[in-house]
Amino acid sequence: MAKFIFVTGGVVSSLGKGLTCASIGMLLERRGLRVRLQKFDPYLNVDPGTMSPYQHGEVYVTDDGAETDLDLGHYERFTNAILTRDCNYTTGKIYLSVIEKERRGEYRGRTVQVIPHVTDEIKAAIRKMATPETDVVITEIGGTVGDIEGMPFLEAIRQFALDVGKQNCIYIHLTLVPYLKAAGELKTKPTQHSVGELRKIGIQPDVLICRTDRELPREEAEKIALFCNVEPRAVIEERDKELSIYEVPLSLVENKLDELIVEKLHLPARPLQIDDWKEMLQRVREPKHEVTIAVVGKYVRHHDAYKSVYESLTHAGIFNHAKVQIRRIESELVEVQGPERFLEGVNGLLVPGGFDKRGINGKLAAIRFAREKRLPFFGICLGLQCAVIEFARNVLHLPEANSTEFNRHTPDPVVCLLDEQRQVTQLGGTMRLGKYVCHLVAGSKAAQAYGRLVIEERHRHRYEVNNAYRPLLEQHGLRISGTTPDGGLVEVIELVDHPWFVAVQSHPEFKSKPTQPHPLFRDFVTAALAQRLNRPCEVQLAG
Ligand code: GLN
Repeated sequence: MAKFIFVTGGVVSSLGKGLTCASIGMLLERRGLRVRLQKFDPYLNVDPGTMSPYQHGEVYVTDDGAETDLDLGHYERFTNAILTRDCNYTTGKIYLSVIEKERRGEYRGRTVQVIPHVTDEIKAAIRKMATPETDVVITEIGGTVGDIEGMPFLEAIRQFALDVGKQNCIYIHLTLVPYLKAAGELKTKPTQHSVGELRKIGIQPDVLICRTDRELPREEAEKIALFCNVEPRAVIEERDKELSIYEVPLSLVENKLDELIVEKLHLPARPLQIDDWKEMLQRVREPKHEVTIAVVGKYVRHHDAYKSVYESLTHAGIFNHAKVQIRRIESELVEVQGPERFLEGVNGLLVPGGFDKRGINGKLAAIRFAREKRLPFFGICLGLQCAVIEFARNVLHLPEANSTEFNRHTPDPVVCLLDEQRQVTQLGGTMRLGKYVCHLVAGSKAAQAYGRLVIEERHRHRYEVNNAYRPLLEQHGLRISGTTPDGGLVEVIELVDHPWFVAVQSHPEFKSKPTQPHPLFRDFVTAALAQRLNRPCEVQLAG
C-alpha cells in the first residue's frame, strides 16, 4: 500500500513549497521509491488555464492535456513521476464535481455539505494517486495555513490519517524563520503560531522545514521542537540558495530529511544515489562560458510567467558548461524603439508562447533582426506563428500577412483557426492541448537535435499555420521540418540558410530537466555559444 506525505505551508506564501515537494520527491525516487506528486490549489478557478499570467504565472501542461499550476513543472524537472490531470485540483474543480453529482441526483436528496461531501471528494482525489505502482504520494496544499479557502483541504488531510492509519501518513509543515535586524536574531514565534493553527484543526506536523536566510542554530531548532511538539531532529533547516534551486535537495539531505521520512513511513528504501545531480551542480558552480539569450515576450516583468522556458535555458546552459544570462525584453518596447538596441550583443533570441496581439509587432521586429543578422533563433508556439508571419511579410512580400488571431480580415491569413476550433465558445480546456506525435524530416536541424524522426511534445494553442501557404513558404527557404503524422499540421519550421533558426508549435519547455536538457534548447544554446565564440555552429549529435 502507498504511503502519504502531506505538505502544508505557514507564515507567508512563496516559501518554495513546490520546490520542497519536488526535492522530497526526487530524494525518495533516488532511494529507489516510486513517487507521485499532487498539488491542491485553494482558489475557485477550475484550473489556471484561463487566468492571467500576471496573476498566476505560467500555465503548465501535462501529457494528458491538463492546464495546471506551475509547481507541477518543478515536480517534473526534479522527478520522473507521472503527471496527469489528477495531479492538480483547485477548489473550483472539487466543487464543480460535487455540484455536477448533486445535479445528477447522486446524493439521493441528502443535504450536500463541506463535511463530508467536499472533503470526501478531496480524499478521493488523494486516493486516486495511490496506484499499485506507487510507493509514496506527496500532496502539496497550496496557500498558507489559516486561509479560509484552504480549510476543506486541511480538514480532508486530517481525516485521511484516520482512514489509512497514522503509520501510513506524515505531515510536513514548511515555515519561515525570519531574521529580525533590529533584534539581531532569528524569530521562531511565527512558526509557533502557524503550527498552533494547524494543531487547532487537529493536525500535528511530524516534520517542520524551516526556511531561513542563515544558519538555524541548534538551540533555536530545539526551541521550535519543544513549542511545536515535534522531535528536535525533525526540525529541518532549509536555507536560501544563492546559486541554484537545484541545490535544495542537497541541503535537505544534509539535514537528513530523506532518512527521517523513510524511517517514519517504514519505507523499503535503497541508499541514496545522487552523483549525477551533484555533477550537474558542479557545472552550475563552475561554468566555462557565458551566453546571453534575449527572451522577447509580453510578461517578462513577471518572473514566473515563462518559468519553464527560463529553466530549460538554464538546463541547456548546464549541458554546454555555460552560464545563460537571460535578457528579458518587453516586446512592446521593441515595437516602439526597434530591435537593435535590445538585441545588439545578445547571442540568441527566443520568442515564447503567448496570446493576443499586444506586443506582436515587437516580436516580429525582433525575429526579423535574428533572421537577417543570422542570430540563433528559437520560436515556441506563438514564436513559430510570428516567425511565419515575419517570413511571409518580409520574404514573400505579403505586407499584410497575419494570424487571424490578430487581424480577422487579413488578406493573407498565414496562421489561422482550424475548423474544429471555430466551433469553440467556452473557454477553459478547449485548446489543442497535451501530447501529440510529430514526424520530423530527416536531415533537418530538428531531427539532428532529437536524434530520431518520431517525437512527442505537448501543445497549448488554437491557431495553426495555414496549409495553403506551405508551398510558397518552402519555395523561399522556410523548411517545414516537422508535421503531424498525417502531414496535416505544421509542427516545426526552420530556415535552410541560417545557422540555427528553428521554431515549434509545441511547448518543449515542459519536458526539460536539469540533468536531461531538452534537445532543442540544448542545440539552441550550443548555437548561441558558437555565435558568441565566433565559431561555426556544430551541435553535438544526440544519442
Ligand atoms: N495564441 C496562439 C494560439 O492560440 C499561440 C498560443 C501559445 O503560444 N501557447 O494558437
